[in-house]
Amino acid sequence: MRIEYAPALLEAVVLAHVRRLEAAGDPVPARELQRDTHDLDLLDEAARERGLVELHGEAFRKHGFEEPLREALGERPELAGLVARVQLFVAPEARLEEVDLNPPGSTERILRIRVGAWRFAQPKILREYLARQLVHVADLLDPAFGYEHLARLSDRPAEDGLLRDRYRVLWELSVAGRLARAGRCPDAERARVTGELDALYGTASTTARARIFARFFDGPRPTHADLLACAHDTRRLFALAGVPHERAGPMPGSPCPLCRFPSHSWSARLDDAVVAAVRSDFPSWSPATPICERCSDLYELAYATRSPS
Ligand SMILES: [Zn+2]
Repeated sequence: MRIEYAPALLEAVVLAHVRRLEAAGDPVPARELQRDTHDLDLLDEAARERGLVELHGEAFRKHGFEEPLREALGERPELAGLVARVQLFVAPEARLEEVDLNPPGSTERILRIRVGAWRFAQPKILREYLARQLVHVADLLDPAFGYEHLARLSDRPAEDGLLRDRYRVLWELSVAGRLARAGRCPDAERARVTGELDALYGTASTTARARIFARFFDGPRPTHADLLACAHDTRRLFALAGVPHERAGPMPGSPCPLCRFPSHSWSARLDDAVVAAVRSDFPSWSPATPICERCSDLYELAYATRSPS
């Protein structure tokens, strides 16, 4: 497997590193880098560019920045035969970080990882981050997982976002659990996914959430079809997780399934017309799940203004 680092990533990581050393009272590496960079000024543009890439690449290797990825890949030997090249790019901000594979059918399988340069300041946390991403990639490439790319999970943008979050969090729980069994899941990551699960399924009881956690974190890996079914239908999720039938009301302060804001007042019985209106925006919502009063008011109002009086 070939590993390639984009010149912009090498530069960002190395510059940030020498600046950190400088701030910590060691100005030598920054000065040396500046001197070596100046030496390249005598060359023509193309040669200067090549020189810079070489300079940053050398410093990158010297400071051990290749190690986190190498170690994370070492823990996923199953990827060796499946991925020909791994390319790392710099993500200018956290929300632009992503991992993707080039489409199947390409002559060569390339794994592209877009990562923030700031992560290299903490090699252990970077390695843990990469380890999680690589488990996702191994799932994607495993025919038994049955992954299929879907551009949209719902035609309604609001619902699409919700379904994607559910799919992602349930998958992340399974990834965290598998890494935990290998002694590779830090407590902070476990706490983070648990928090996301609680936020997404805040209207379920504590027992139900504990069962979901146990099923995905401790249980066998779900398939793509399982994740999709669970994201679309909470009853399927409860069945898979062995949650006994419950009709517990939402806890005060738990998020509304529609607007996702924490709510303390929940709609009582909804009008059939309102149910139909909510369903047209959120087809997977069931009237058995209470919605917040703000949302029910909005839908009632929208219905009243739409219908002839
Ligand atoms: Zn709401």
